[in-house]
Amino acid sequence: MFLPWNKVAYLRSDERVELQNRLLRKFFRHQLPYSPHYRQLFEQHQLKFEDIKTVDDLQRVPFTSKADLAPTEDDRAKPRTFILQPDEHLIKHHAAKSTLLKIVWGKITKQDVKTKLEREYKPVHMHFTTGRTALPTPFVYSSRDLELLKETGQRLFEVGGFTKELRALNGFPYSPHLAFWLAYYAMVTVGMTSLATGGGKVMGTQKITDAMERLKINLATFIPGYCYHLLREAVKQQRDFSDLKFLVFGGERVSDGLRQKVREMTEQLKAREVQIYATYALTEAKTAWLQCSETTGYHLYPDLEYIEVIDKDGNRLPDGSPGEIVYTALDWRGSVVVRYRTGDLCKGIEFGPCPVCRKTVPRIIADIQRSSDVKEFHLTKIKGELVNLNEFYPLLSGIKDIEEWQVIIKKHNDDPNDLDEIDVLIAPKQGVDFVSLKAYVEKQVQNAVFVSAKVKQEKMEKLLEQMGMETELKEKRIVDARPKV
Ligand SMILES: [Zn+2]
Repeated sequence: MFLPWNKVAYLRSDERVELQNRLLRKFFRHQLPYSPHYRQLFEQHQLKFEDIKTVDDLQRVPFTSKADLAPTEDDRAKPRTFILQPDEHLIKHHAAKSTLLKIVWGKITKQDVKTKLEREYKPVHMHFTTGRTALPTPFVYSSRDLELLKETGQRLFEVGGFTKELRALNGFPYSPHLAFWLAYYAMVTVGMTSLATGGGKVMGTQKITDAMERLKINLATFIPGYCYHLLREAVKQQRDFSDLKFLVFGGERVSDGLRQKVREMTEQLKAREVQIYATYALTEAKTAWLQCSETTGYHLYPDLEYIEVIDKDGNRLPDGSPGEIVYTALDWRGSVVVRYRTGDLCKGIEFGPCPVCRKTVPRIIADIQRSSDVKEFHLTKIKGELVNLNEFYPLLSGIKDIEEWQVIIKKHNDDPNDLDEIDVLIAPKQGVDFVSLKAYVEKQVQNAVFVSAKVKQEKMEKLLEQMGMETELKEKRIVDARPKV
């Protein structure tokens, strides 16, 4: 059903382009017409599906944005228009000739057709985006999509070099989100002995720590902020994680500073040379991509998606340029998007053989600025300025003398008409002089985030409780406590 990964991963660039053009043509001609949203969009712009023959032709297709997808109070059904929904009439018009002829010639029965259609299109599973301002947007999977989710799980682990001999622990929060389910299916499909913990909220940090030690876990997946918390507790308890080889992070940006702190803690837990890998995941792409080493980019699946990079005006940029990531599905069913503007900014895509694993798949350079961190929440008007609060992560996680931190945005004197204020709450490392740390952090925040913030000391236990480290699916790292307008 899907192309073998050991072939796709090593195509020459001309073969890759040829393959992507062929798949794109097929997808636009035979699948996309089943999408109510794209039927309407194409009609509105007087475009024909069969006119999109190559990845270059794609530039004629208008972009899809988060706003097109997200349900609103007035229009709850919006996400449904992105689900492929063939009916008899549409099938007659758009199905591949070979499929239609098989039906006409009686080579497949009506029942076979029904079974095939159900497997391919009937929604059986769903994930939601974790939007903080918009209503959650569902993305549905058909049975065929679930097979593909498993396939990409296998590919992801193959890229990381994770074999079935490893004992694995899934530390992502149990929820209808991509991270938990992709990790679950990847571990099970590869055939690892694995424990799906559901994360701190479900199983609790103490039990996860016990499991890491007793099951001699080799590979663990976590949200980085939570992993840091768990490792710190484990260090306090002088645990033995000497079997740990790989940590795979998802759901948050992984800064060099955090990587460094995590590495130091794993060494204290007797784990030597732990590899720390980051993933790039998109709910809208229905899967995620992994690095093959700490320094390489995210290895894409060129038979399943086409990724282009654009400038702020929407013009496609030449290969290798920095810009916004735009995603087009090539072989999914269920909910699908094409020319989807992620809002995520990358430093470029690398082509040619990977210097580490020699695969020739395109690779997005690993340092990506997520739009979910910028547009929906972090890019906030403070004193009339747009501030990228995303910068707090690498900055504060990278300062050695800080044990934990949280950022609170509030109104001066809690007066809704007054100016905004930023408090940075810090639990310093033991034995650190807070007065000089405070001065240092305030200066660093000014330099990196271009705002003045008040740095305040907070007790570790209180900070962890405020962040909901054990009670929330994802810790509350940056809190906007201003009254809603
Ligand atoms: Zn590689």
